Order: sequence, then structure tokens, then C-alpha cells
Amino acid sequence: MKAAICYEVGKPLVVEDGVTVDAPGKGEVKVKVAVTAVCHSDLHFISGEIKWDLPGLAGHETAGHIEEIGEGVTNLKPGDPVVVGTVTSGCGHCYYCTIGARHFCVERDAFMKPKHQNKKGQRLALMAGPVGGFAEYTTVPAALVTKIPKDMPLDRACLLACGVTSGFGAVVNRAKVRAMSSVVVIGTGGVGLNSIQGAVFSGAYPVIAVDVLDSKLETARKFGATHTINARKVKDPVKAVAEMTQGRGADYVFVTVGKVEAIRQGFLMSGVMGMTVIVGLAQGDLRDFTPFDFIFTEKVLTASGGGSIRSSVDIPFLVSLYQSGKLKLDELISGHYPLARINEAIDSLKKGEALRNIITFE
Ligand SMILES: [Zn+2]
Ligand SMILES: [Zn+2]
Repeated sequence: MKAAICYEVGKPLVVEDGVTVDAPGKGEVKVKVAVTAVCHSDLHFISGEIKWDLPGLAGHETAGHIEEIGEGVTNLKPGDPVVVGTVTSGCGHCYYCTIGARHFCVERDAFMKPKHQNKKGQRLALMAGPVGGFAEYTTVPAALVTKIPKDMPLDRACLLACGVTSGFGAVVNRAKVRAMSSVVVIGTGGVGLNSIQGAVFSGAYPVIAVDVLDSKLETARKFGATHTINARKVKDPVKAVAEMTQGRGADYVFVTVGKVEAIRQGFLMSGVMGMTVIVGLAQGDLRDFTPFDFIFTEKVLTASGGGSIRSSVDIPFLVSLYQSGKLKLDELISGHYPLARINEAIDSLKKGEALRNIITFE
């Protein structure tokens, strides 16, 4: 099979034939990949911003069909259309699974086993999302796979593996935004737009989008933002949020930009007892915070990993929202690229031209 392999960070991926993948073992499935979306998290690894072993295989927003099932897999069969994501649906019986926090299942770390090798026999390391989606086939734990209806287009479905669920889930699952509360979303890319959709779905008002490009803020309005702030154009974005929230600051702030400065700014935009949720992968220290930031305000600073989703429940739910016209997915797709042109898809995302580019395999 073919796969796009990272041999050197900061360099184009090498599309190579002769790659193999292990047959599915106990509790695993082999998936014939149909589509994989390119996400900013892939870029963090491919560019070397986040360290990983090389050669490596990225790609973690995948949809396709079950090719083969391993021993003990009872909920899936060959031919089933599936989403392969980064958040486990859990073993079902550990402490975290039992209390309903399946994304913290104790077995999740056991998932990072490289399954692919190149024609030289080198094992290909996996990025944090152990999907291996930039290959024609992948073998993964069945707990990372969610069956979807046959009439759900796979290029839309793959967005539910990470981007959509990270943004939407942070609002609905992690923060549990209340109706009639105020929400700020910093960053209106492929994840932020879905936090906006989650806020609208939760009945928030106002839903304030913050970004530095007017064109992106226009898109944010199409996704349901009621107010927008161009952080480069207004003098003080924190004051601008205060003015839009009766002087109080926002009840919830979602920081989808991977920058620590944005986390600090988001925190300052939150009001008394407000909650700031880190959604984007940010590298660095939060050294600007002091206990006084919290003591006199009871503000909360927390994070959401992968949207804190219960994948076996939330992914089918989001599919039904899409099919009933209540969730925008079509508008998130900027282009389709065959695997041979994957580096073009990556460059266009890097340049900020694209929300999501889809790599196609069949
Ligand atoms: Zn992603
Ligand atoms: Zn578990």
C-alpha cells in the first residue's frame, strides 16, 4: 500500500509504496481508509514543533470501511462505514469508563503501538492521535472506531474524528454551557467554528468570535457568531468583550488558538466565576497567572482534550445533527486532494487558506 511518511521534520512528506500494516490483533480492526482530513495538529508534528520519533505517520481525522476484525470484536464487521478518531470509547469497565469519563480510560496509553512499516522494514511512529490516517490501510483498537450510517458522506464524517468534536465537545461536554450565558471563541479556524456551533446549539448569547482576519470573522457569523472582534483592529479586545457583556466579561471563553498569550487574553475576557477552556494545543508556560487572578473572582481555567467526547454516543449524534441540517460540515471543507498531492493540501492549510483539506484514497 501507499502512505505519506514523515522522514524529516519541516520537509514535505514522502508518498511511498510498499508500506505494510499488521493484521488486527485482539480487540483491533483493520480499516480501508477512504478519506483523512489534514488538521493543525498534524502540522505541529510534521513541522517538528512537537517532538516525535521518525520516520512517522501522521493523519488522525479518518473515515473508511472495516476491512478485517480481530479477535473479540463484536460490534463491527467488514464493510461497515466508520470514523476513526483519536478519542477512545473506552474499555467499559475501568474506573473512568464506569463514571462516564470514557476518554480517560486507563487503556488509552496502550494504544500508541506503531502498526505500519515501510518497505525497508522500519516501524512508523504515530503522532498523539494513534490513527495512522495518511496510509491506505490502518490497524487500530476497535475502541477508536465508531460505526456511522451508510448514507453519511465519508468526507464529512471524517471531520467528526477531531476538528468538529474538539470544538463542539469543549462547549457542550466540558464546559456544559448554560442557555442564555455569554460565550467568547478565540480563533475561528476548523475547531473554533465548531465551538461557535456548539455555543449556538447550547442557547448562548452573545456568541462573540475573536480573530485577526475580517474574512474569517465573516465565516464565523455564518456559523452563528452574533458579535465579532478583530483583535488587530480594536484597541483593547478585553474591553470590547466587556462592552458586549454588560461590563461583566464572558461566562465562558474557548481558546482554540495554540498560543499561551491567547490563553491569558481569553482568561482576562472571562467574568467573575467565568470559565476559560483551553482547546488548541499550545506550547509554553502559563507564568503570567497568580493566585489573585482566581481568589477574588473564582474564575476557572481548564482544558478540553478532544472535546471530552463519548465517541460512541457523540459521533452518531453529530451525524444526525448534520443530516437534519443543524450542524454545518460542508462549509468546513476547502478542497479534496489525492494522496499523491498531500503536500499541496498541507501547504494550503499552513498558509491559512483552508479550513480543512481532505486527502482521498479511493
Ligand atoms: Zn485534529
Ligand atoms: Zn476504561
